[in-house]
Amino acid sequence: MKILSVNAGSSSLKFQAYEMPEEKILIKGVFERIGIDGGFYTLKINGEKIEKKADMPTHDEAVKILVKELLERNIVKSLDEIEGIGHRIVHGGAHYKESVIITEKVVKDIEDLSPLAPLHNPAHVMGIRACMKEIPNAIEVACFDTAFHQTIEEDRYLYAVPNEWYEKYDIRKYGFHGTSHKYVSERAAELLDKKYSNIIVCHLGNGGSVSAVRDGRCVDTSMGFTPNAGIVMGSRCGDIDYSIIPYLMKKTGMSIDEIDTILNKKSGMLAISEISSDFRDIEAKISVRDHKAILAHYLYVNSVVDYIAKYYVELGGADAICFTAGVGENSPHVRRMIVDRLSCLGLKLDRDKNEEMRFGKEGLITKEDSSVPCYVIPTDEEVMIARDTYNLSNQ
Ligand code: ADP
Repeated sequence: MKILSVNAGSSSLKFQAYEMPEEKILIKGVFERIGIDGGFYTLKINGEKIEKKADMPTHDEAVKILVKELLERNIVKSLDEIEGIGHRIVHGGAHYKESVIITEKVVKDIEDLSPLAPLHNPAHVMGIRACMKEIPNAIEVACFDTAFHQTIEEDRYLYAVPNEWYEKYDIRKYGFHGTSHKYVSERAAELLDKKYSNIIVCHLGNGGSVSAVRDGRCVDTSMGFTPNAGIVMGSRCGDIDYSIIPYLMKKTGMSIDEIDTILNKKSGMLAISEISSDFRDIEAKISVRDHKAILAHYLYVNSVVDYIAKYYVELGGADAICFTAGVGENSPHVRRMIVDRLSCLGLKLDRDKNEEMRFGKEGLITKEDSSVPCYVIPTDEEVMIARDTYNLSNQ
């Protein structure tokens, strides 16, 4: 059975085609600059990388090209072979606790949640509509980034603000990167060979979040009402004292939108390092002892360690701490700083193993006698989407 896993952004559309249930990737690719001049797409098939230019005024054209490529490359002989299409959806609100088959009502709900995820949800709807139009016979499935966090209890998801804000305006913690936290915590439980386990997952990418998972259920997570809360990120500030905002508005005359843009796009590692939001650029400057690059790393590590320590207590101890996503999978430097800071809890880093674990490798990075084992587990949100889509398409 062939399944597509789709992640539609405002000007891009990423996809992977799977043979299920084997979970074999048949082809994957990304369409970029949709709706912008200079559109192009890249495909990866059998180790070969192909890049082509294409004019794509809307997501419809991207999906049309995707269909053409699938047919021409004999991935499918007819479109009917694609039985399910799973879409990554950033915000599912408090209603969606798991993946669902997409109906008109689901599309409307995703649209209605757009004020909570203005950069993502409208784009997901464009992706869904394009797939419905070009591949009409497939079952479409929505997989929500928020769903895994719906097991968080009231005393952890409420903010200490008037109840009315929650009741009328849905102000509460939602949490994001749920598909990744679910994948990594499930994989860690497999590696530990322990179904009942306390796992702390550090999803450290350009955006980042830490979550606490008990027996496969999320107990808490660092992102909040929006993906701006929690740890320091590439260009997002993470947790700050909210009073900074009205103070700065009065002091500088900046509008709320201007401040919002700064906190979203010009803060985090970018702001402190004054180099880049990309850890690779900042790490390159650490080797020449750039003070701001070093300081940015300390702020970052402090924020991650704070959450690990908090969740260690919240869970009453941890069976594993896992690192994933761009930074978590590829930066031994950041992992070393984090694990060394946790040595007071008895964690012992294996420096050689830590250096080895990069570029898609999975494995242990702590010594045998470390109080808590730490793992690098490359995340795979696409396969989670394909699994849910396969299961729902078979019902
Ligand atoms: P997102 O999905 O949030 O865009 P990713 O999980 O793809 O983010 O992570 C991207 C980030 O990972 C990059 O911005 C960069 O900071 C970091 N990264 C990628 N490769 C490396 C590396 N080799 N060393 C350090 N950081 C890296």
